[in-house]
Amino acid sequence: MDYTEQNVRKLVEEVIKSMNLTSTNVNNEKKLGVFSNLNNAVEASDIAFKEFSKISLEIRKKLIANIRKISMEYNEILSKMAHEETGMGRWENKVLKNELGINKTPGVEDIVSEAFTDDHGLTLVERAPYGVIGAITPSTNPVVTIICNAIGMLAAGNAVVFNPHPSAKKVSASLISLLNTAIIEAGGPVNLISCIDEPTIESAKELMCHKKIAIMVVTGGPAVVKAAMNSGKKVIAAGPGNPPVVVDETANITKAAKDIVDGASFDNNVICICEKEVIVVESVAAQLKEEMKKNGAYELTDNQIKQITELVISDPGGPGHEGAANKNFVGKNADFIAKGIGLNVPSSTRLLICEVDKNHPLVWTEQLMPVMPIVRVKDVDAAIDLAVDCEHGFRHTAMMYSLNIAKLSKMAKVMNCSIFIKNGPSYAGLGFGGAGFASFTIASPTGEGVTRARTFTRERRCTLVDYLRII
Ligand code: NAD
Repeated sequence: MDYTEQNVRKLVEEVIKSMNLTSTNVNNEKKLGVFSNLNNAVEASDIAFKEFSKISLEIRKKLIANIRKISMEYNEILSKMAHEETGMGRWENKVLKNELGINKTPGVEDIVSEAFTDDHGLTLVERAPYGVIGAITPSTNPVVTIICNAIGMLAAGNAVVFNPHPSAKKVSASLISLLNTAIIEAGGPVNLISCIDEPTIESAKELMCHKKIAIMVVTGGPAVVKAAMNSGKKVIAAGPGNPPVVVDETANITKAAKDIVDGASFDNNVICICEKEVIVVESVAAQLKEEMKKNGAYELTDNQIKQITELVISDPGGPGHEGAANKNFVGKNADFIAKGIGLNVPSSTRLLICEVDKNHPLVWTEQLMPVMPIVRVKDVDAAIDLAVDCEHGFRHTAMMYSLNIAKLSKMAKVMNCSIFIKNGPSYAGLGFGGAGFASFTIASPTGEGVTRARTFTRERRCTLVDYLRII
């Protein structure tokens, strides 16, 4: 086909029309960039990568701008599709989450070269793409992870083949097709982003072993991180977390309570960085709970806590053991979960709070739902010690509310996390009401932290001996 602007516009319009994108009608017609065979997807993206390598940086920038534009245009539809398909989260929160990824994921401007000069001339260090990246994405943030990965990986000059979570395969394929239309419209090659229509754990493993895949970028729980690490390829791994929140007696309790409810209930707690357990100094514990209740929290009795734990935890975590949540309740609304034990709470309830002792399974298990354990401890040092233990050494995310800079510094150091947030909700650490850029692939196990375009590049050095220094 001749890629004139007129032809491309026509193609884009036809594809969008054929996709018939609505929140209730997700059709499975042939979509751009979507293959039924993994090898074909990789081969197509490999061809696209080679074409992309010849394209100017100006077109690369236009292509990223177009990805942001089309993602924003379809944000609400994609959010509703993701909610319907996965049954998790709150679509209105997904709109905000996607908007954050669309607007604040760094693009081509993040790829910065370095120069060294001395008596021996000039050395230039530039950032080159890896090639075709294999990316595995989660069910919990299906849309925003693909958008952030696509922006960062393409801004760095790569192509990418996605193996989305099977329970988000339809919305992922629709999104990948849409992004291809945006790329073509900007003058980029088709299949620069691809996926398969029936992703499985087997196809994820096939992707990890494919000889044309340069590196793997995985976003998910412990099993996929382990599998990717054993693949023999370079891996950027964004794994699980169990983010603790410490509140001490110097904190602004009114603000802490509101921020904790807002952060922990955002998209029903499915984001890996969301607050998962509160550890509070006993002198302010009662006040914290009262303030949380004013902001949408509902406190369960001891008997209700026992029942809810049996309902939502399938493998109880404990010291040294991560445990697992019951998937039927992951990302559900608080009132739905309460109904599971025959309890009717107002539908406006954002969070169910449970005061428990420090060995309780809710403290040690990544629940990914709006059920929040609260533990009282005697002082701030005991709180920090418990926070370190129940984070399981994931080094993912932690939060602290305090006005004591010595204790804020102590916790930041000993947690040793990719993200540490002081006096704000979890999402502030992703640039939502906090300074800095966004990403929904936070690579704690492999150490890249909050990933960005430059994360997906190889450094290449070029030295000219004795010349080109200009001073
Ligand atoms: P999941 O681990 O069930 O699935 C993630 C992806 O990995 C899916 O595409 C799945 O098909 C694939 N997968 C799972 N097991 C695999 C295996 N053995 N071999 C190959 N592929 C495999 O995760 P989920 O439930 O979709 O997402 C929630 C989990 O992901 C939580 O643990 C959360 O903390 C984590 N997460 C981390 C980040 C981060 O940035 N660090 C972001 C989002 C989610």
